[in-house]
Amino acid sequence: MFNYIIFLAMFLTAFVSAQLCIFLFYKKRRIHLNGLLGVILSVFIYSLFYSFELICPNLTFMKLFTGIEYIGIASIPAFWVIMALEYTNKSRYITKKLYMLLFSLPTILVALNITNDYHHLFYKSYTVDIADNLYIANLKPGIVYVICVIFVNVCFIVGNSLYLIFYRKENSLYKKRSFKIMLTSFIPWIGYWIYMSRITSIRIDIVPIFMGVFCLIYTYALFKSNIFETATIARHVIFDNISEAILVLDQENKIIDMNNIAEKIFNIKSKMSIGQDVYTEFKEYQEIIKYIYEEKETSFNCEIKIKNKLYYFKGKLTLINNNRGKGKVIVLSDNTEQVLMIKKLEYYGITDVLTGVYNRKYFYKIAKEKIEACSDKKHMSLLMMDIDKFKNINDTYGHPTGDVVLKKVMNICKELLGKKYYIGRYGGEEFLILLDNANSEKALEIGETIRRRIENLEILHDNKCIKITSSFGIFTSVRERDLENMIKFADKALYEAKSLGRNRVSIKMGNS
Ligand code: GH3
Ligand code: MG
Ligand code: MG
Repeated sequence: MFNYIIFLAMFLTAFVSAQLCIFLFYKKRRIHLNGLLGVILSVFIYSLFYSFELICPNLTFMKLFTGIEYIGIASIPAFWVIMALEYTNKSRYITKKLYMLLFSLPTILVALNITNDYHHLFYKSYTVDIADNLYIANLKPGIVYVICVIFVNVCFIVGNSLYLIFYRKENSLYKKRSFKIMLTSFIPWIGYWIYMSRITSIRIDIVPIFMGVFCLIYTYALFKSNIFETATIARHVIFDNISEAILVLDQENKIIDMNNIAEKIFNIKSKMSIGQDVYTEFKEYQEIIKYIYEEKETSFNCEIKIKNKLYYFKGKLTLINNNRGKGKVIVLSDNTEQVLMIKKLEYYGITDVLTGVYNRKYFYKIAKEKIEACSDKKHMSLLMMDIDKFKNINDTYGHPTGDVVLKKVMNICKELLGKKYYIGRYGGEEFLILLDNANSEKALEIGETIRRRIENLEILHDNKCIKITSSFGIFTSVRERDLENMIKFADKALYEAKSLGRNRVSIKMGNS
């Protein structure tokens, strides 16, 4: 009687799995369900032909049904792995190669099962017992049978492990569902161990029934709230395709999740980092870490060096604090291109493109600030320089060569003065140098040094050596704090240097 019930359950399994197959076939286009569909189809073949086997009085046919049944039995483990990969968002690993790898052994197993009478490698013997009018195969396992059992076990363990790992990493919003799916994935084991351990007197293989129950519950869990499911998938797709790097932390600042772009930018594999402490995983990125320490919502800008390249990020740290979980979400958008563009614009806004010194407008701005900030007791000097007979250079060698001369002269000034003093292009071949906190001796010394260096400069042009000189006018004062006046007096000093024969430094002192 009990055997009859099991037989009916087996037949019902075949019927239900056929229905599930049709249902899933139409859903499949929307989400990755190849693995589940394959499992259910295999369960259908397994249970249907096993039912036939149980009521078949002819041994030859029984063996044939067993062979067909094995198409299902051997495919289930392969599809099991694919199904687990699909659920745990690892579809990228499902390639043709993986299919070939997973299905090569099942193909051989089925072939060996069908041809068992010729080699007896699968079953050492195949006889039939009759119980409650059902024909139950009495098998002595051979070496191939053992291989088949190992293959099934390995694949199931791989699948179960994937669900377990995924459940552990899944963030709290979807954790519940992943927990259900993970538990469901252990259902087939129950049937398998009841059957294998022979703790009951049941001699009919009950695994297909447990597989059927699994398929039903798994499909139900997957489709129970289709909207939720779609939303989950949508969230994952957005999460991984968004241009911002996203980092999700739990209450203890352990990494729960990170998206593809975060992996790429920080050169960190989420596989290795999830579950790890953010302080250790991101220790090189203190610029971000310091905001995590603060434990409060904030927006920030930061510069981070990654693989010797400087990146500029706009960051936002949001605290999650609700009954579903606590933690932090850090969103970082790579702002490098814009920042570099702004820096470039800023540079061109303040720099004279030809010579690389400050342009007139910016020099005035910065000089005024410096002069204003300078205390009454300190010396302030302004140096005006002009290249002698520069017009001749242009006329003799051409304007482009004149440009080269200007560049070389300014390189000398930049090199001699460093960042300490400000140089600005006043106009044409005239330049201003603000020597703050420099008295007349110091200013004269600087002017002389530059003059000598320019005098000794040799510029090669068409194998000819161009030599130039320059004249300098300096104004030094402790009182004068008006830039325009200072320029006026420096210009006067320069005029003097020119009229005294050029290639010299003249100085005018303010009444101090
Ligand atoms: P002086 O000794 O009296 O200063 O004689 P000068 O020829 O240098 O004087 P002037 O101010 O008459 O000539 C300056 C020349 O500088 C005129 C102009 O063509 C040239 N000049 C101004 N800006 C540039 C520039 O950006 N590039 C080049 N190549 N020449 C320039
Ligand atoms: Mg000149
Ligand atoms: Mg001039």
